[in-house]
Amino acid sequence: MKLKPDMYKKDIYQIDYEKLKKLGKKYLFFDVDNTVISYLDSSLTKENKKLFNKLKKMGFECFLFSNSHIKRIKPLSEELGINYYTGSMKPLKKNYKKIIEKYDKEKCVFIGDQIMTDVLGAKRNGLFVIFLDKINEYEPIYTKFWRFFEGFILRRYNKKGILVKGKYYD
Ligand SMILES: [Mg+2]
Repeated sequence: MKLKPDMYKKDIYQIDYEKLKKLGKKYLFFDVDNTVISYLDSSLTKENKKLFNKLKKMGFECFLFSNSHIKRIKPLSEELGINYYTGSMKPLKKNYKKIIEKYDKEKCVFIGDQIMTDVLGAKRNGLFVIFLDKINEYEPIYTKFWRFFEGFILRRYNKKGILVKGKYYD
């Protein structure tokens, strides 16, 4: 199955980062909306900052990799002291290509809460991807559009017992 995420976890705090290290991963690309913070929030939480500090200490290089506008993403990345890619146009290949040219793709991990953007975008570029539950239900109209298609895929997978909500794996 082409779209199956490499790992599925509840949220960014449940990811086994030690395991990622053991797998030789170094570059972590985080979706922002409903992955790091909800659409309703514009600032980071203490937990966010703690996690990103920990990841830096572990030797990871982290990025925000978002379809959102630079106005939303830049202040967050500055606060975390990490780099960012905005207007990423996931699942289109353009921005993934930039990353693949710059970093060893075997060491890259993409992390996000949407099948049609985060997972599809990574998988069609042969990249490692971790799928997460969304932080909360509120989503803007363009995200609902993607969720509509996601629903078809998830229902098909769920029938085979794959990607059932809450059945986390790594
Ligand atoms: Mg998202």
